[in-house]
Amino acid sequence: AVVTRFAPSPTGFLHLGGARTALFNLLYARHHGGKFLLRIEDTDRARSTQPAIDAILFGMRWLGLDWDGDEVYQSTRAARHAEVAEAMIAAGAAYRCYMTPEEIDAMRAEAHANKQPLRIRSPWRDRTNNDASASFVVRLKAPTEGATTIEDRVQGTVTVQNAELDDLVLLRSDGTPTYMLAVVVDDHDMGVTHIIRGDDHLNNAFRQLPIVKAMGWPEPVYAHIPLIHGSDGAKLSKRHGAVGIEAYRDELGILPEALDNYLLRLGWGHGDSEIISREQAIKWFDLGSVGKSPSRFDLKKLENLNGHYIRSADDSRLAALVSAKLALDEGDPRRATIAAAMPSLKPRAANLNELADGAGFLLVSRPLPIAADAEPLLSGEAPNTLAKLHSALDAVAKWDTEALEEAVRQVAETLGLKLGQVAQPLRAALTGRRTSPGIFDVLALLGRDESLARIADHAA
Ligand code: GLU
Repeated sequence: AVVTRFAPSPTGFLHLGGARTALFNLLYARHHGGKFLLRIEDTDRARSTQPAIDAILFGMRWLGLDWDGDEVYQSTRAARHAEVAEAMIAAGAAYRCYMTPEEIDAMRAEAHANKQPLRIRSPWRDRTNNDASASFVVRLKAPTEGATTIEDRVQGTVTVQNAELDDLVLLRSDGTPTYMLAVVVDDHDMGVTHIIRGDDHLNNAFRQLPIVKAMGWPEPVYAHIPLIHGSDGAKLSKRHGAVGIEAYRDELGILPEALDNYLLRLGWGHGDSEIISREQAIKWFDLGSVGKSPSRFDLKKLENLNGHYIRSADDSRLAALVSAKLALDEGDPRRATIAAAMPSLKPRAANLNELADGAGFLLVSRPLPIAADAEPLLSGEAPNTLAKLHSALDAVAKWDTEALEEAVRQVAETLGLKLGQVAQPLRAALTGRRTSPGIFDVLALLGRDESLARIADHAA
């Protein structure tokens, strides 16, 4: 059975690249009826923080990246990592290295002088007379001849000459495991069959595979996916804007299903389908359709998708999200107003901020603040037009969109104006803006008294 995992280091928040890696792992596992596991790689105690762990768990839950079983904390497994290092020594696949820092410095200086990268092959590699009292690290006895080849599901066949690998440290002198050892042991113990991760880890695979082989464990399938780049083609970083998931939720007003869909399409495709539900994604996902080149992040595209998901989202859910954004209390009556307005608000919003902004006219009280660009719409002939509208609307028997439309059209006709020319000052008077939901919806949502009062405020 397929077992995948997401293995974030909690040294920062969950970022777009990590979320996409997690999503691909989840989809691959679900597609094959397997398991998707989560491992928090918190071995770097100094850099790992609880807020970062919380942000990762929260971000994954928000995006619906539900992992199977409990998450594994790598730091709890140090004893097991040491045990494997010992087993490797016993099997002749690793050794205790007593090189002093000075000796390593000398080796580094020599490598530097020869314009070579430092590749440690310790003199202790083939010695057996270990000095039990002195301090040591445990090193992998890496293969020195031949080559290591990985059939990567995304990158294809990748080969590295073993002479280029070094005897990496497995256990530090204080007995703690290195990242390389911990990853391999945990993946094996968790039964991980497929390692899907960013291609910044491709080099590591060639350092991890010898450990797998030395232990005689089954080799995992590797799939190294290209990183996400910014719109300028450079690796995605803070200067491109938000990289943390929570900013997309809190600041940019993105719905989780929109971000999921966007991340899925970023580097993976199924024909030209753009809107892809989770169910469809599980049906269709395969590693063969993951592109080999980095994908570029495009906020406009994300917002287009977000607009789609807003339009199809449940009105009461959107109303709750918008009310929270506007910091309205649970019992605030304006929540009901927003909920009622949702069908006319949501067709025009690309994010929750725009939705909240669009609801603004419902929440302000008279005299309305008028946006600078809406001011001209209330001058010139506007006060006269508004006076005509006021008396026509005042005479409407039943305050519904049909009757309101009829009344406004009548006024336009009488004044020899186009509907739009009448609607513009009306919109400005009712909302203080140049743009708003459909003008008849606005009238209906505000109700008779409030509408007439707002019109009167600007009528001649
Ligand atoms: N902890 C590593 C990281 O956050 C990932 C390790 C892995 O996926 O093998 O970059």
